[in-house]
Amino acid sequence: MSNGISIIEVRDLTKKFGHFTAVNNICFSIAKGEILGFLGPNGAGKTTTIKMINGLLKITSGQVLIKGMDAEKNRREIKKIVGYMSQKFSLYPLLNSLENVEFFGGISGLNKSRIREKQKEIEASVSLPILKQKVADIPPGIKQKVALFVCLMTDPEIIFLDEPTSGVDPEVRRSFWSEIYRLKKEGKTILVSTHNLDEVEYADRMLIIHQGNIILEGEPDALLKKHNKDSIETLFKDAILDSEGTVETKT
Ligand code: ADP
Ligand code: MG
Repeated sequence: MSNGISIIEVRDLTKKFGHFTAVNNICFSIAKGEILGFLGPNGAGKTTTIKMINGLLKITSGQVLIKGMDAEKNRREIKKIVGYMSQKFSLYPLLNSLENVEFFGGISGLNKSRIREKQKEIEASVSLPILKQKVADIPPGIKQKVALFVCLMTDPEIIFLDEPTSGVDPEVRRSFWSEIYRLKKEGKTILVSTHNLDEVEYADRMLIIHQGNIILEGEPDALLKKHNKDSIETLFKDAILDSEGTVETKT
């Protein structure tokens, strides 16, 4: 557990789809200003957890508190302070990037002149011809950049990024992570999910989730030392093997 003040508290959170338990009674917290890496293989329950925290999926049981507010009861308030970038980047593929900025700016309550400012801002880092291309036709790295930009348009203090680096090349990943550090310097709190083992070392703290259960939690270096492992890869594999021996079978 981190020593900082928790900005997010997840308590006994469970999601069942019929008889299948996708997220099994998990608890964790995120401190203000922290980068939390949420690591787990495909199907582990990362997206389901992030969606429940963001009020996009109904909680089966348990509770999420964001700055002390119950996430289910205070969705409106919470929406104002949270940014969420979904796994599929969630831009409209048939609109171009500038139109996406306009659309999402509009639904987030930005006025016309603010939207124009935001469009100018992205024009400074992505070339205009690309910004005018349908999102469906632009490279994944640019799509990710635009999606992150859209997610940050309202200057949220808490940011959820669900597998933001899947499908993008190593160079794009590096520039993505420098952007994450810039956000941290601004005091933002960030949860980043990934299934790339090499990425969690960038996080202040990591959670490993497997089959809906959190099986390991801590600072990457401290965990390596504590479990006497020389790489995140061995730590991860062994944690999964151990959990399969000990975690209760789901119904
Ligand atoms: P991750 O994001 O870690 O890859 P998910 O949270 O998407 O994992 O999925 C966790 C598990 O829940 C998977 O087994 C997935 O098939 C299942 N699941 C996700 N959404 C649904 C749904 N709407 N209905 C039934 N099962 C689902
Ligand atoms: Mg997912």
